[in-house]
Amino acid sequence: MDINKPRLDLDELERKNSISYKYCEHCGAAIPRSAEFACCSHCQETILFHAVKDYIRENNVNEFQVAEHFGIPLRLVKQWMRELRIEYVNPNRGPRLFQ
Ligand SMILES: [Zn+2]
Repeated sequence: MDINKPRLDLDELERKNSISYKYCEHCGAAIPRSAEFACCSHCQETILFHAVKDYIRENNVNEFQVAEHFGIPLRLVKQWMRELRIEYVNPNRGPRLFQ
């Protein structure tokens, strides 16, 4: 048995792990260091959602214009509508959305 064989260094391992992760600026969730944004995908969506709501409140727009303005998939806007997080003021008249 080779007593000089290096043991698994847990501190070293931990250091490597913390190097490959960073923490979401908003909720502190661990995200890959290589991630493009400073926050996790959940917080990104929350931030985006609030921006969308503000935009809808200030502009008379429909879901197509929202998707185009934010460069987000139409299905995401539709998903929010489905979840009743945003909805048409009156589905029978005009495209105006409200929060
Ligand atoms: Zn987060």
